[in-house]
Amino acid sequence: MSKPRAYSVKAYSSTAAKSPLAATTIPRREPTDRDVQIEILFCGVCHSDLHFARNEWGFTQFPAVPGHEIIGRVTKVGPKVTKFKPGDIAGVGCLVDADLSCPMCRKGLEQFSPTMVMTYGSMDKHLNLPTYGGYSEGIVVDEHFVLRIPKNLNLAAVAPLLCAGITTFSPLRHWKVGPGKKVGIVGLGGLGHMGVKFARAFGAQVVVFTTSPSKRDDAIRLGAHEVVISRNADEMAKHAGTFDFILDAVSAEHDINAYLSMLAPDGNLTLVGAPEKPLPVSSFALIMGRKSLSGSLIGGLAETQEMLDFCGERNITSDIEMIRMDQINEAYERMLKSDVKYRFVIDMASLK
Ligand code: NAP
Ligand code: ZN
Repeated sequence: MSKPRAYSVKAYSSTAAKSPLAATTIPRREPTDRDVQIEILFCGVCHSDLHFARNEWGFTQFPAVPGHEIIGRVTKVGPKVTKFKPGDIAGVGCLVDADLSCPMCRKGLEQFSPTMVMTYGSMDKHLNLPTYGGYSEGIVVDEHFVLRIPKNLNLAAVAPLLCAGITTFSPLRHWKVGPGKKVGIVGLGGLGHMGVKFARAFGAQVVVFTTSPSKRDDAIRLGAHEVVISRNADEMAKHAGTFDFILDAVSAEHDINAYLSMLAPDGNLTLVGAPEKPLPVSSFALIMGRKSLSGSLIGGLAETQEMLDFCGERNITSDIEMIRMDQINEAYERMLKSDVKYRFVIDMASLK
C-alpha cells in the first residue's frame, strides 16, 4: 500500500495528562479509494474523551485529540466509494477501521476485531501515525465506518448517538429488554439518559438510579417510570431483588455490589461505564441468585446504523448543551461534577 499524502487541519489536543486542551494542527490523509472526507459540523463530548485526554486508562499517546461522536458534511470521496457523495451528511463513531474479514467483523462485531482501529488512540495504518478524533475541522474515514444520518433529526442532537446511543442500545437489545422486563439505568449522564430513552422505547419498566436528587424530574421526563436516589438506603431497599437487567453507566468508582443486590435471580448487570480504577465484586452478590455481571463495548457498524434508523423513526435524539471549542476544559470540569444535561456538543464552526 503506498502512503497517501497528508494535509493538515485545525484541532484541539491535550499534550499531557495534566494539561488543558488547546488549539493545534494535526495531519489527515488525502482520501484513498474507499475513503470519505468529512468536514466536521458537530462533535459530542463523551466521558471517555476526558478519561483519554487525562490518560486515566494508561494508554494515551500525546498529543491526544479526543472526539468520537462526529457529524459532518462529506467534502470528497475516493473513486471506489458507493454510499456517499459530496454534500451528504454523515456520521462517524468510535471505530474507523478493521480488517472486515475476521470472524468478529463477519458477525458485524467490528468492535471486537483484533484489528479494530479506534477513532482516537489507535494507529492509522495509512499514515503510520496515531488516530486523532473529532475535536477537529475534518476527518477521513473508510466508508464502511461512516454512518447515514436520518434526515428528520436535529444534527447536533444526533452526534451523541454515535457513541452514547449505540453503547446503550446494543446491550439493551442483546439482553432482550422489552415489555414485562424491569430495567435499571445507573447514572443519568450522557450514556444513562440515552439508556432511559431506549429502554422506554423498547417497552420496559424503567427505573433510574442517580446520585443527583436534582435530576429526578428530568429522569421522568426522559422516560423513567421511577427514580431511586442511590444514596438513600430506604429507597434502595424497596427495590432489592427485583430487576431483570441493570445497565451501569457510571464513570467513577462506586459500589456495584449494591446494584447486584437489586437483581432478581438470573438477572444481569452490564457495565458500560469504564472508571479509572477496578471495581471490587463480592462473589456472594453473584452466587446468591445465579446472577451475572458482564460488559459491553459500543456496537458494530450494522447495529449502529440500525440504531440511527430506529431513532429517525421514533424521533429520538440526545438532550444537548452546545458549547464552543474553547469551552471544552470548562465542560470537562462540569462533567466531573455530573453537571451536564445531558451531553455537551461542540459546534465545530467555533474552531475555524
Ligand atoms: P457522564 O455523562 O459524565 O455520566 C456519568 C454519570 O455517572 C454522571 O452523570 C453521574 O450520574 C454518575 N456518576 C458520576 N460520578 C459518580 C460517582 N462517584 N458515584 C456514582 N455515580 C456517579 O459520562 P458518560 O459519557 O455517560 O460515560 C459514562 C462512562 O461510560 C464513562 O466511564 C465512559 O468512559 C464510559 N463509556 C463506555 C463506553 C463503552 O463502549 N462501554 C462507551 C462510552 C462511554 P448521576 O448524577 O445520575 O448519579
Ligand atoms: Zn464515547
